[in-house]
Amino acid sequence: MEQPPQGGVEARGRESPLDREFMKVIRYLGGEEAVRVVEALRRMGEATDEVLANEVGIRINDVRKILLKLYERGLLSAIRVQDESTGWYIFRWRAQPDQVDTFIRSRRRKVLEKLKRRLSYEESRSFFRCDNCEEVYMPFDEAMERAFICPRCGAPLKGIDNSRAVERIRELIKKLEAE
Ligand SMILES: [Zn+2]
Repeated sequence: MEQPPQGGVEARGRESPLDREFMKVIRYLGGEEAVRVVEALRRMGEATDEVLANEVGIRINDVRKILLKLYERGLLSAIRVQDESTGWYIFRWRAQPDQVDTFIRSRRRKVLEKLKRRLSYEESRSFFRCDNCEEVYMPFDEAMERAFICPRCGAPLKGIDNSRAVERIRELIKKLEAE
């Protein structure tokens, strides 16, 4: 089966790993409704929000929300064209499965940055907690300010060994960096 040179129209049942990855991301970002919208979009190659809303039976405002969300993340492209009958400008949307790698990379980078900040936070401090109050958990400086007394129940705060947490974060970072 020949694919049209412009792409977009997909032969059903012949999804590449990239397409599968793309749809996974779509589902993650927008749920089932987004999946329906994007599947319709890929079937049609290119479509306006109105046509899409009719095709999938989702309210046009919801379709627009989905389209914008995905557009902001680079997963769809939009071309502004003038409607021949009304003279209004409308957008023609198109799925960009090839952008999924960029999206995943930037997401991974953000997660990595967060983990690294967390690691240096955990590494640079010792932590204190209260035996009675589960939610009382604080770094050394804060515990010192409170004279090592639990602010909730008044019991003495105890130092915690956070080396396991540090180890777990290190492992996650290593795993992400290897991917
Ligand atoms: Zn307490």
